[in-house]
Amino acid sequence: APRVGVLALQGDVREHVRVLTDLGAEVTAVRRPAELAAIDGLVLPGGESSVIDKLSRAFGMREPVREAIAAGMPVYGTCAGLILLADRITDGIAGQQTFGGLDVTVRRNAFGSQVDSFEVDLDVPALGEPPVHAVFIRAPLVEETGDGVERLAVLEDGRIVAVRQGALLGTSFHPEMTGENRFHALFLDMVRDRSR
Ligand code: GLN
Repeated sequence: APRVGVLALQGDVREHVRVLTDLGAEVTAVRRPAELAAIDGLVLPGGESSVIDKLSRAFGMREPVREAIAAGMPVYGTCAGLILLADRITDGIAGQQTFGGLDVTVRRNAFGSQVDSFEVDLDVPALGEPPVHAVFIRAPLVEETGDGVERLAVLEDGRIVAVRQGALLGTSFHPEMTGENRFHALFLDMVRDRSR
């Protein structure tokens, strides 16, 4: 079974652990650098990216996570996790940093306060039918993508909400909250490809 971790500093860790476990992975909640060394893939959960950023520095996890990404470890980020994977963010709080790795610009809380949260059925060609029922909660938007970044899903107005670049996968929304497991299955395929 693929050995994967969920970064467990803040956010919806349990939901990710459940989906990954259901898919047959061996799952660890990761809080310490040594725990990173024992996994082949990492999930960055939804939550509050500025808090996860601060805690990652307080726990000495920032550099180890950056090194794992640089070494090619597959990483999947949902919502706050996508923000943490982005090389560039707009509307970050003062001093907010990301792990980076994904050549995109992400805008935090991009949908404004009147639509804090919404749900849509999203066409994701890489996953086939049926569409993905996507839940957006104070969600970020991918505003720019560099060369080599694949757009896996866009809203009807063209705004980008799911991307992949090499071993990195990110979604603005939360499949782990709706019983949608195909993004996690895709992530586990990436982990298996990588550790073969
Ligand atoms: N708005 C949050 C942030 O900036 C993300 C929200 C979420 O993960 N649902 O980190």
